[in-house]
Amino acid sequence: MKKIISLLLALSFSLTLSGCRQGKKRYEAQFLQLFDTVTTVVAYMDSKDGFTEFSSMIRDTLNTYHQLYDIYHDYDGVQNIKTINDNAGKRPVKVDNRIIELLKFSKRTYAETGGRCNIALGAVLKIWHDYREAGIDNPESAVLPEMDELKEAARHTDIDKIIIDEENSTVFLSDPKMSLDVGAVAKGYAVEQTARLAQEKGYDSALISVGGNVRAIGSKDGKGKPWNIGVQNPDDNSELLMTEISGRSVVTSGIYQRYYTVNGREYHHIIDPQTLMPSEYYKAVTIICPDSGMADYLSTAVFNMPYEEGLAYINSLSGVEAVWVMRDGEVRYSDNFKQYVKSD
Ligand code: ADP
Ligand code: MG
Repeated sequence: MKKIISLLLALSFSLTLSGCRQGKKRYEAQFLQLFDTVTTVVAYMDSKDGFTEFSSMIRDTLNTYHQLYDIYHDYDGVQNIKTINDNAGKRPVKVDNRIIELLKFSKRTYAETGGRCNIALGAVLKIWHDYREAGIDNPESAVLPEMDELKEAARHTDIDKIIIDEENSTVFLSDPKMSLDVGAVAKGYAVEQTARLAQEKGYDSALISVGGNVRAIGSKDGKGKPWNIGVQNPDDNSELLMTEISGRSVVTSGIYQRYYTVNGREYHHIIDPQTLMPSEYYKAVTIICPDSGMADYLSTAVFNMPYEEGLAYINSLSGVEAVWVMRDGEVRYSDNFKQYVKSD
């Protein structure tokens, strides 16, 4: 509950919206059941009924993605990522095309980001997840996983062993000890597809935030006035900077979202595939780019990259900008980030 309250506070910060479009009113809806976090939908519309129809459509679409991309729960009549994991080494699983597309996207981007974000890292991430949950429940007896245990699990994280058969719409994990964890990319990817669906239906001005994974549809007034999206300071949730974006996504990966404490040190939830330990480069990395799936994927991948490499990589991509909060609190920007920073 505390988590939800602090998230709500953070969101009210992030979605500081002012002004009122001519003849249109600002509406906002919040949903708590999706992706284990708070979803906020904002739009300026003529009527409450119009907004209810819109926000219900967003909620239902996101809920379908939530069920398909879930690695922890089963749903009646749904073959999801958990079903794929449960059948690792046993049989190919027939799945919805929305799963195949997510896996193809993640495999493609894996290669482009030097393996820094690996959806086949499930075996390693599950160990960290279990130790973290146990450590949060019983802080007195919190411990770190053994490196031997992590290394053994890391032998079962080969992304090429995700066998996708597009013709038959099946996915098969050919290593029985491997599993998928799409936590680094699923939320953003789902938000992106949902935003695209909304655009196809003619909605041209709205904001969707799933746990701070923000995607703007068009501009705030439909005429180019940008949305203001705050980026939080990782230390105290205060505002680090305010951005102005239209038709873009803002996504942050940070050490403050999920962590536990062992011997006075905090161990967070983004694991460097090279060390198998929580990545130590930054406090937070924020990505701005048009595609929210890409922003989510990159926020995690760049979080696991040394700064020089991450900077060169981000600068090489067109339409993608990043801001890094270093461990000592210093803030660094990619070459063209500042165009999105609100100036007053
Ligand atoms: P959040 O989900 O908290 O918004 P991220 O997008 O950075 O933040 O995703 C973190 C999640 O990604 C972790 O909870 C875990 O499930 C997964 N993850 C952690 N490290 C990696 C990694 N190196 N490669 C792929 N997935 C990872
Ligand atoms: Mg991410």
